[in-house]
Amino acid sequence: MSSATEKKTYEGQKITVTFEARRCLHAAECVRGLPEVFDPGQRPWIRPDGAEAERLAEVVRRCPSGALQYELVDGGAETRPGPRGSRATP
Ligand code: SF4
Repeated sequence: MSSATEKKTYEGQKITVTFEARRCLHAAECVRGLPEVFDPGQRPWIRPDGAEAERLAEVVRRCPSGALQYELVDGGAETRPGPRGSRATP
């Protein structure tokens, strides 16, 4: 079955960006904000490692349609954020 939401994932070292083409309004906020990451003329058109994760996150938040979303890998890849203090030894 084909899913209604076609979301693509672009994984970077520190940040993962997802893009849902269906929701994109082509406002080009992303391309204008960070042309070194968002380049429709390239493939893949999103290169999450093209800029600092924080700057990228900022531009993603500016996306007016919500087509772009991000998730910071920081601290979440190897040790998933669980309850605080759960690492304490018995
Ligand atoms: S900012 Fe969002 S709506 Fe605008 S072009 Fe980029 S993904 Fe599409």
